[in-house]
Amino acid sequence: MAEGRYERRLARVEQLLSLEDHAAEVLRLYRVVLTLQRQLHDWAAGAVRDAEPPRDLAPDPHLSLTRLPEGQLLNRLGEYARSIAPMATAELADAAARLCSAPQQAKQSLLRCTLHLEDLTELAGDFGSPVPHLVFFARGFLQPIAEALVAAANPSTEGAEARSCPRCGWPPQVAAMRDDGEARGRRSLVCGLCATPWSFPRATCPSCLERDSERLLVHENTERPFLRVEECTLCNAYIKCVDARQDGHAEPLVDDIASLELDLWSVERGLWKISRNLFGL
Ligand SMILES: [Zn+2]
Ligand SMILES: [Zn+2]
Repeated sequence: MAEGRYERRLARVEQLLSLEDHAAEVLRLYRVVLTLQRQLHDWAAGAVRDAEPPRDLAPDPHLSLTRLPEGQLLNRLGEYARSIAPMATAELADAAARLCSAPQQAKQSLLRCTLHLEDLTELAGDFGSPVPHLVFFARGFLQPIAEALVAAANPSTEGAEARSCPRCGWPPQVAAMRDDGEARGRRSLVCGLCATPWSFPRATCPSCLERDSERLLVHENTERPFLRVEECTLCNAYIKCVDARQDGHAEPLVDDIASLELDLWSVERGLWKISRNLFGL
């Protein structure tokens, strides 16, 4: 299943690159990230399969990395950063080098704090790198691992209508709309860490839960008609919604990254994104 997800995300990146998408620079870097993430996912899924079954099958807001062999995990973090560095900006490459040479304990703290959405300011001082650069590596590394961990721990999200991911507790990255059996135009939110989709009411702000339709605005755009910006005028949050019924090839996580012009537009409008993507947009 999840292997198929990575194939679909990579195929979507290729498709957008072939259309000479104006986000080409970001997409080329994302292609490298996705290729590495696919390998990490396969490794983590295998390691979890070989490990003891989890004692508690309830949704775990604090994903436990202890189910993976720690030495291998930290070595793979270094390999991941090292493999991305040649394709990245000079600033990111510098952060990668600092990450690789950091003590194991610092790497462990970085992964734990990122996973639990804790403040990284102090840790960034220890690494000598800006927080966003550290997050770029740590989050990209953790995404496929979280995907493998939650799939093994708790396969069902039926009936979940929460503001945060029912499997890992992270906020949603993007919304998606699709026909699902008898439910036409079912809206789901997609987790910014473990990529789990969960159903969520259409006319409700995913941040403050406002339901007054006059306060919830939908901004369509001509360039990408399958992708719209949903704005809440009460809390000023926005999230993009990918309508898979209009473009069957759209991949919510990829299309969110590719449509950076909509993020710039939204921020200029004074809005804030419920969860920025891997590239900080
Ligand atoms: Zn999640
Ligand atoms: Zn709101």
